[in-house]
Amino acid sequence: MKTDIEALVRPNIRTLCPYSTARDEYKGSVGIFLDANESPYPTGYNRYPDPRQQALKEQISAIKGMPAANIFLGNGSDEAIDLMFRIFCSPGENAVAISPSYGMYSVAAAINDVEMRPVQLGEDFSLPVEELLAACDAKTKLLFLCSPNNPSGNAFAQEDLEFLIREFRGIVVLDEAYADFSSRESLRSKVQEYPNLVVLQTLSKAWGLAGLRLGMAFADEYIIRLMSAVKYPYNISQAALQLASKALSQPVGERLEEIKAQRSRLFDALPSFGFVRRVYPSEANFLLVKVDDADALYNHLLSDGIIVRNRSRVKGCEGCLRITVGLPEENDKLLQSLDNYEKGNIR
Ligand SMILES: *Cc1c(COP(=O)(O)O)cnc(C)c1O
Repeated sequence: MKTDIEALVRPNIRTLCPYSTARDEYKGSVGIFLDANESPYPTGYNRYPDPRQQALKEQISAIKGMPAANIFLGNGSDEAIDLMFRIFCSPGENAVAISPSYGMYSVAAAINDVEMRPVQLGEDFSLPVEELLAACDAKTKLLFLCSPNNPSGNAFAQEDLEFLIREFRGIVVLDEAYADFSSRESLRSKVQEYPNLVVLQTLSKAWGLAGLRLGMAFADEYIIRLMSAVKYPYNISQAALQLASKALSQPVGERLEEIKAQRSRLFDALPSFGFVRRVYPSEANFLLVKVDDADALYNHLLSDGIIVRNRSRVKGCEGCLRITVGLPEENDKLLQSLDNYEKGNIR
C-alpha cells in the first residue's frame, strides 16, 4: 500500500533530503552542548527544542491510544493542512472539499497554486457522497472532509466517510477539530487500516489552547515521515511543548460536559424566539442559527458587546449566524440580549 501512496507524492518531495539538525545527530540529554551555536547562558529557552517532539507525542499517544509513530504535531491544524498541499499537490493538480466548510482548505490551496473544487453539501448539510466522487479526476490529490463540520455543526455517518476513503484514489483529509464534542467516534484508529487517511485534531477547541497553536495529525507512518521531513525543523517552540504537556495532564472532561449541557440549553431556548427560523443540530461547541434578518441581529448583538460569526453570506448558510457556546453566564447574557431584540422588534 505504501507504494500507492508514494505515487501520489510530489516528485521533489519524494526525493527530498531533509535538513538534519544538530539535535537529530546527538540525542542524549546530558553533556556539554557545543554543537548548535546556542548561547550557553541559561534563559530557560537557550536550547533548541526537540524537533521530533518525542515527549509530547508519548503523552498524546497515551491519551489518544495511538502509537507515537502515527502522530504529527504542527503549529495548529493549519500547518498540517498546508503540508498536505506542499507534499501532495503540484500546480495544475486539484483538491476537492465539502462546502460550506473550514475556510483554510481553500486558502491553503490558493497559496500553493492548486485548484480547489468545492462540492455543496446536500439538504440539511448531508454528505454528498456521489457528487464528491464525481468532482474528482486523475489530477485530484486531496479530498477534504470535516466532521463535525464547521460551520454546519453536524457529523457525518462513519460508513459514508469510510466509503469515500475506500473509493477515492488520493489522500482523504478528515478534519476532526470538534470530535471531543461529538457523540460519534473518531476515525483516527482507522489510519492503521487506510494508508490514504489523514485525521486532523487540535488542542485549540476542547483543550482550550487556541493561543498555544498545537494541531495534531494522525496517519500512516509513511505520511507522518513525509510531514516530519517537510515541516520546519523546530515548528513547535519549547514554550508550547512545556505548556501543552502541563495542560494535557489536567483532564478537561468536566468542561466538555458543561459545554455540551450549555449547547443543549441554547438549542432548546433559541427556537422560542420569533425571529429564529431554524437551529441546526450540533455535535460541536457552536450552533448555526437561521434567523429573519442576520445582519440586523448581528449588529444588535454587537451593540451589546456580544460577538458572533455572521455566516449569512456563505453559500448554503444564507440567513445564518454561528454562535459559539460560552460560559453559562455568557449564555445568560446572549439570551437576555436576544430577548431584548425580540421585544424591541415587536414594539
Ligand atoms: C478551529 C478549527 C481548526 C483548528 O485549527 P488550529 O489551527 O488547530 O487552531 C481546524 N479545523 C476546523 C474545521 C476548525 O473549525
